[in-house]
Amino acid sequence: MKDNRPEFRLSTDVLVVGSGAAGLAAAVTAARQGFKVLVLERYGFSGGGAVAGLSGTVCGLFLASENPDAPPQRLVHGFVDEFLEQMERRNGISEPVKYGNTYTLVHDPLVWRETADGLLREAGVHTLYHTHVTDVLVEDDTRITGVIAYTKQGKLRVDARITIDASGDGDLAAMAGFPTFSSKNGVVQNPTMIFRLQGVDVDRFLKRYGDNSVLLGEVVELIKQANASGKYDLPRSKAFLFPTPRPGQLLCNCTRIIGRDGRELNPMVAEDLSEAEFQGRLQVREYERFFRDFLEGCENAYVLDTGVQVGIRQSRQIQGVATLNNTDVVAGTKFRSGIARSAWPIEQHAGAVPKLEWLFGDYYEIPYECFVPEFGESLLAAGRCLSAESQAMASARVTAQCFSYGHAIGHAAAIALNDGLAPRQIDPLQIRDAVNKDGAQLG
Ligand SMILES: Cc1cc2nc3c(=O)[nH]c(=O)nc-3n(C[C@H](O)[C@H](O)[C@H](O)COP(=O)(O)OP(=O)(O)OC[C@H]3O[C@@H](n4cnc5c(N)ncnc54)[C@H](O)[C@@H]3O)c2cc1C
Repeated sequence: MKDNRPEFRLSTDVLVVGSGAAGLAAAVTAARQGFKVLVLERYGFSGGGAVAGLSGTVCGLFLASENPDAPPQRLVHGFVDEFLEQMERRNGISEPVKYGNTYTLVHDPLVWRETADGLLREAGVHTLYHTHVTDVLVEDDTRITGVIAYTKQGKLRVDARITIDASGDGDLAAMAGFPTFSSKNGVVQNPTMIFRLQGVDVDRFLKRYGDNSVLLGEVVELIKQANASGKYDLPRSKAFLFPTPRPGQLLCNCTRIIGRDGRELNPMVAEDLSEAEFQGRLQVREYERFFRDFLEGCENAYVLDTGVQVGIRQSRQIQGVATLNNTDVVAGTKFRSGIARSAWPIEQHAGAVPKLEWLFGDYYEIPYECFVPEFGESLLAAGRCLSAESQAMASARVTAQCFSYGHAIGHAAAIALNDGLAPRQIDPLQIRDAVNKDGAQLG
């Protein structure tokens, strides 16, 4: 017996695989340039790491200052402005919340899904949710001409003029056999199971522990003492806890997922990714117990939900024509081909205490060539699967930047089609001009 459901076919100008921050921005931008755009997303909603992984905050929007009490200063604009305005209208985004020496915004994940739905529909993007891309169509071993996807209806074949890999994991580049890597010059960041704690007396919590979401000092010591008592098993002692737009709620980014046998987990290994889900859920309950037992305002708190999936910060990246280096981030390098900006710290999630390395009062730019595969045609990457060294990635991967990457790459796809160019032939200044016309303020 074999599957006798007929294959169904679609064709499009621009195909976007994945509807996280980057895929959404790329799809809407390309559609607004008059092209037929198709998005394929394996989940039943948009949002990716921010929603399915419940990362919960839009980081990377503001400059950092040596003075932790300096007011928020916005750096990143463009597509993200429109997204945030719509989130605000739906009461789904917070005011700036302190995060170490910078600020972040906390979002409501349901409102994110609705906002993304609205933007996709408004821009006329054909969107298929519950569609998992399983293979790429490659001509002459070099040119991507579309994909094969699994749907409940049967096998879908899509023919596309330009394909954008916004899968977060560089899935398409890997399926095509184009060069990819996992962690250049460093370890892969730990996965984290993020959860929301409900029933918190947030005012009392903030009064006691302060309004900085990176909890230092007392709470770190309490976690260490709890571990030392032998009654708790809390593998990460630096917790990031954010009040959300909803009353009585904290978003908790505090777990550090490692294997039962203590091994570091690689989300690109099938066994490890499942192990991360098991371990993540166990750890969430352990932190819940600790919060209830030790933290003021959390006495009656309970876990409302976890991410739909364990949060993956870093997995597989494309090998690009250029690679963002660690030194570029630290030095605040600006590039002629810069298509996005970032001032987010290098945030290393490895070991018990995540380390933050700040870039004060300055920012770096991310070059277009980090999204153009070194080898292969008609494919562009957008989002966290950019070509970047490990520490650079630990800064460049956050949500505001992923919106910027998608915005720029949506324009790049449109320019390639309009001008009959391969993505690698585009002058990045054209992309910079295009995003600036949409308000990106890259100068
Ligand atoms: C634990 C954790 C904490 C984080 N904390 C923060 C934070 O506090 N603030 C912040 O700004 N950022 C944070 N981030 C980073 C941020 O969430 C992500 O880097 C960002 O969401 C990445 O966006 P993206 O669009 O590149 O990829 P993703 O959000 O990963 O989106 C990729 C999309 O592609 C889909 N997809 C993948 N493969 C396929 C396939 N084969 N077929 C079809 N669809 C596919 C996925 O379902 C997903 O929707 C965190 C991330 C994690 C994991």
